[in-house]
Amino acid sequence: MMPSSFGSVLIISGPSGAGKSSLIKAAKDRIGDFYFSISTTTRPPREGEKDGVDYFFVDRETFEADIKAGEFLEYAQVHGNYYGTSLKPVREALEEGKLVIFDIDVQGHAIARERMGDLITSVFVTTPSLQELERRLHGRGTDDESIIKKRIDNALVEIEYITAYDFLIVNDNFEDAVDSFIAVAKAARLKKGRKQALHFINEWRNGK
Ligand code: GDP
Ligand code: ADP
Ligand code: 5GP
Repeated sequence: MMPSSFGSVLIISGPSGAGKSSLIKAAKDRIGDFYFSISTTTRPPREGEKDGVDYFFVDRETFEADIKAGEFLEYAQVHGNYYGTSLKPVREALEEGKLVIFDIDVQGHAIARERMGDLITSVFVTTPSLQELERRLHGRGTDDESIIKKRIDNALVEIEYITAYDFLIVNDNFEDAVDSFIAVAKAARLKKGRKQALHFINEWRNGK
């Protein structure tokens, strides 16, 4: 029998409008069982977004109380709103040996790296150019002009963080980008950090 294993984490980051949500959605039936970490945010829901599916939508007071209570593995302010990853469901999924996927910003990636180290594989997703990012944000039609401007300004800062990531996907042809994302997700599942390696060695020796 295969030894049970501890799970691993795949972090996907990139500018708003780069195609992160589209990639996860398109790839989800082709990367095997995984747990998608649903973040908590103070951003208002967009048209079509559902509480508990896309995000847990809360007010600032609730979010700040959760920070104080130590609920978050990481949190950050992005485009003027709070976003955070709850620790408990992530820990449970990892203990079940699952691949856990986080769609979080560059600040959250840095914090998660400090806290979870070599459990993590990370991928930065972006468009072929800044101009194409602007076109997609306008094309998506979910945000008004001032919000788009904020997201573009932030993209210029975020792009500098590519150096901190394991993989880069330039989302030009969508089908190619989906194939690349699937390859990265499969690699993330096979990633053996120290904790996973020690767990495996122990079970292998004991002939499980
Ligand atoms: P989108 O980027 O257009 O999909 O817009 P969102 O409002 O959904 O997300 C804005 C930013 O917040 C993106 O960079 C996300 O990766 C990031 N984000 C979402 N959830 C979290 C989280 O739990 N923690 C952190 N640090 N960032 C998050
Ligand atoms: P993110 O989750 O990173 O903010 P989305 O997945 O919402 O990005 O994608 C932003 C917009 O760009 C959406 O309207 C999406 O349909 C479109 N899009 C995604 N990938 C491509 C691509 N390769 N070519 C053209 N448009 C794309
Ligand atoms: P399905 O196509 O049946 O919705 O999902 C296939 C697999 O992907 C299941 O293992 C499911 O748990 C996982 N999955 C896909 N999308 C999500 C998501 O948005 N959130 C969570 N928690 N899991 C997801």
